[in-house]
Amino acid sequence: CGIVGAVSTRNIVPILVQGLQRLEYRGYDSCGVAVYADGLKRARSVARVAELMSQVDSEKIAGGTGIAHTRWATHGAPAVHNAHPHFSHGPGEAAPQAPGRIALVHNGIIENHDELRAALQAKGYKFTSQTDTEVIAHLVDSLYEGDLFDAVKAATKQLHGAYAIAVFCKDEPHRVVGAREGSPLVLGVGKDENFLASDAMALAGVTDQIVYLEEGDLVDLQLGRYWIVDRNHKAAERPVKTVQAHS
Ligand code: GLU
Repeated sequence: CGIVGAVSTRNIVPILVQGLQRLEYRGYDSCGVAVYADGLKRARSVARVAELMSQVDSEKIAGGTGIAHTRWATHGAPAVHNAHPHFSHGPGEAAPQAPGRIALVHNGIIENHDELRAALQAKGYKFTSQTDTEVIAHLVDSLYEGDLFDAVKAATKQLHGAYAIAVFCKDEPHRVVGAREGSPLVLGVGKDENFLASDAMALAGVTDQIVYLEEGDLVDLQLGRYWIVDRNHKAAERPVKTVQAHS
């Protein structure tokens, strides 16, 4: 339903959660946030975004790189274990609370999730949710060889359906990768920091410099730089637009 992401040197948790609040009016059944703080940390809730904020405060979740989501369930009941961000910690057994390597949020529907899940289970991946989204997290992990952008490029080649995704990896803590196909996603350009959102409105008051990604685009966000490629993985020039801030 709603996505916000950020790569910065300051604590971006308030920006992520306020971004979700700006998207709340669209409706959702659960919400969550994950950040890099010496590994992946996450909070998820089936209550309001305000409740997520107090959870984040009490658990002292803070970090400069992160992603957040409001979910409108399509696959898997509205429940904390189905709320995004979804983690992958690689193949093999892991406790439900095991720290992840990959964190991912997703808007849309992956049509071939059954087939992908079966292939990943055969490789030893254990699933902790009933969502189509968790399949993407494990798929990215299975293709990860040290470069998250390459892993997401390879993963999206295997996805059929509609998606906007935002993903990061604990091994590359100052990087968030986004991709869209059939669901909106924008890049927000800041000073030495960059943002992602499913709607520019989520970034009001944060940056008014917005790049509207096109269908099939992938974006690599780092501190002070970003890089966009099209569906054929060719470098893509997309205009930066100044959007009027609305509160
Ligand atoms: N299909 C995903 C799920 O059910 C994403 C739904 C959404 O767009 O919020 O978790």
